[in-house]
Amino acid sequence: MLSRSFGSTGQTVSALGFGGMRFKNLDDVDACAALVHEARDLGITYFDTAIGYGKSEEVMGVAFKEMMKDRAAKPFTVASKTFAATADDVRRDCEISLKRLNVDALDFYHVWCVLSPDAWRERKTKGVIAAFERLRDEGLVRNISVSTHMSGDEIAPLLEEYPFVSVLLGYSALNFAYREAGVAAAARLGRGVVVMNPLAGGVIPQHPQRFGWVKTRDDESVVEGALRFLWNDPRISVVLVGIADREQLHAAVRAAEGFRPISAERIARMRSELSAAFDSLCTGCGYCSDCPESLPLPKLMDAVNQGILAGDDKAITDRLRWQWNLMQGNGLDRCTRCRQCEQACTQHLPIVDRLERIRGALAKAV
Ligand code: SF4
Ligand code: SF4
Repeated sequence: MLSRSFGSTGQTVSALGFGGMRFKNLDDVDACAALVHEARDLGITYFDTAIGYGKSEEVMGVAFKEMMKDRAAKPFTVASKTFAATADDVRRDCEISLKRLNVDALDFYHVWCVLSPDAWRERKTKGVIAAFERLRDEGLVRNISVSTHMSGDEIAPLLEEYPFVSVLLGYSALNFAYREAGVAAAARLGRGVVVMNPLAGGVIPQHPQRFGWVKTRDDESVVEGALRFLWNDPRISVVLVGIADREQLHAAVRAAEGFRPISAERIARMRSELSAAFDSLCTGCGYCSDCPESLPLPKLMDAVNQGILAGDDKAITDRLRWQWNLMQGNGLDRCTRCRQCEQACTQHLPIVDRLERIRGALAKAV
């Protein structure tokens, strides 16, 4: 199994991580636990779950109970998360996760889903970080990590401000430009980088023609190409793949084991092909971020991307709701149509028209 050193921890982890959010049938506890066992037998050592993933922690805990018996010989790493907004709730969630997972400490416990710098400040003010530190001092948590959907330019100062041991972020062949600064900061600061959503929420496998540029070999699929594109980046420690069943597990393991380094020239060509492949898509570069009315344009345009790729406005509202929490407070009503953003846009996108499309999608969603 392909492996990586994990930031400055001195630990080595499998470069393929088991994402515990997509089990096919969480009611089939034995099958889910067997999948976790099989993943470990195949060399996966990084397991990620969260208190909010239904019964994921429970089913993984059934496997971990057995796996703990020979953990010294076959080490593995357990990561979980809490969205709790108060110190008391952080402790409660951590205790629940430990019990469900059948472990005496969480290796990586994430301040989950930090959506904006304001949200980060609010959690800090409410004692969330102090609560994490107490859990760490008591030995219930080994490392404090963060998961975020912020842009790279927002992630970099967050990592500079607080010594999170690792950062979990969405990063893929579709949006790497949007989080590039965050990955660069993590590498510079010696933090582990765990990538979630490496297939852009299924968009990449659903549009193999459009993403053909990620394939560097004739014998690989678009999915393998997209994963290997990420593994080729030495700053990335773990690529999490949400595993539903054995078929997906073996496909992900094959992708990792078949990884071969991609030349710098090829990567440079792939990055430039991004523009050609996505001439109608926002690349998340962030050059439009100086909107005088402070509209979160890269996030809004990312939502339109989903609508264009899916051919369905519901994909826009799904993205606003679940990824960006922008069903409200999106600033659409403040836009003055000054078109400053369009002048700055590297893709020359009709941003004002796209904002109109979002308004239409939101009206339909009401
Ligand atoms: S057109 Fe609207 S979104 Fe674009 S810069 Fe002006 S106010 Fe901001
Ligand atoms: S400048 Fe254009 S391509 Fe870049 S983030 Fe803004 S809308 Fe997207």
